[in-house]
Amino acid sequence: MTEQPLLSIRDLKTHFHTDDGVVKAVDGVSFDVHRGETVCIVGESGSGKSVTSESITQLIPMPPGEIVEGSVYYDGNDITTMTEDGVRSLRGSQIGHVFQNPQGALNPVYTVGYQIREAILSHRDVSKAEARELAVELLEEVGIPEAPTRVDDYPHEFSGGMKQRVVIAIALACDPEMLIADEPTTALDVTIEAQILDLFRHLQQELDMSIIFITHDLGVVAEIADRVVVMYAGKVMETGSVEKIFENPAHPYTKALLECLPGQAGLEPIPGALPSVTDPPNGCRFHDRCPYAIDMCRTGEQPPLHDLPGDHAVSCIHYEDGDGDLPELEDVDRMDAAIGGAR
Ligand code: SF4
Repeated sequence: MTEQPLLSIRDLKTHFHTDDGVVKAVDGVSFDVHRGETVCIVGESGSGKSVTSESITQLIPMPPGEIVEGSVYYDGNDITTMTEDGVRSLRGSQIGHVFQNPQGALNPVYTVGYQIREAILSHRDVSKAEARELAVELLEEVGIPEAPTRVDDYPHEFSGGMKQRVVIAIALACDPEMLIADEPTTALDVTIEAQILDLFRHLQQELDMSIIFITHDLGVVAEIADRVVVMYAGKVMETGSVEKIFENPAHPYTKALLECLPGQAGLEPIPGALPSVTDPPNGCRFHDRCPYAIDMCRTGEQPPLHDLPGDHAVSCIHYEDGDGDLPELEDVDRMDAAIGGAR
């Protein structure tokens, strides 16, 4: 893509100052989101994907959180240098958020129509009657049947899936260009999940929205993503089009995640655990769990992202010359011996 991205994150570092030390939750993350595309950020719990998404509109608690370095360009303007008022106005008017738990996102004592209307009135210059009409239209847009009557119902009168539709309607209330959705289907059963994914596809295609979709589930990624950002321990391990990631995964972590998908022969959890992000290891952060690790992976810094052909980049030492590939597993020990012998 050659057009300027709607969102461009560059070398973002979000750290948390805790009694146990500095938690480097996001530690040098870069990626772009273009207009009208869905980018999925995928990784295990603790990989930094939610903190990355919350850093975009500064939803992280500050303190203890702090964006210590990097830039978040939205439509060419760096959000990290905006005033609090500027960020608040961007949030809601141009960037909407949808969270995992619709129950917690809705106020049980107000009707859903009131809650959508309030979101509209806080950002748009319309009358209360017009805001009510818009609320009904939004409920119709997100697929709530009988919206003109349901607009006066309370959250407890909606099922889990319908509540999530209402939360999406609130996020759409100010006609945003971008939606950031953090695990929005995790609390739902698979049938309802499929319906909500359909709704996100509809929003992207019909309203030409950009969507950042956070998930730990590569099955969801396959359903909805145009491009994918694979995160591990606060770093980006691989990025690429959804076709590249699924048909030609380059990073050992991405390969391991794919082998955990139902229907794959491997279907084994990845052995080991995420490293500490308070005291991250030297070298590649995945080296403790990586079957392809050689001695050089355990020293220095995380390898930079190397461009591969097409819309694809990977952070792995085996691709440092730009056209490399992973070695055969039985050759890994021999590589160490050869490098050691050459020193
Ligand atoms: Fe594995 Fe080394 Fe590549 Fe990291 S750099 S993914 S440890 S082979």
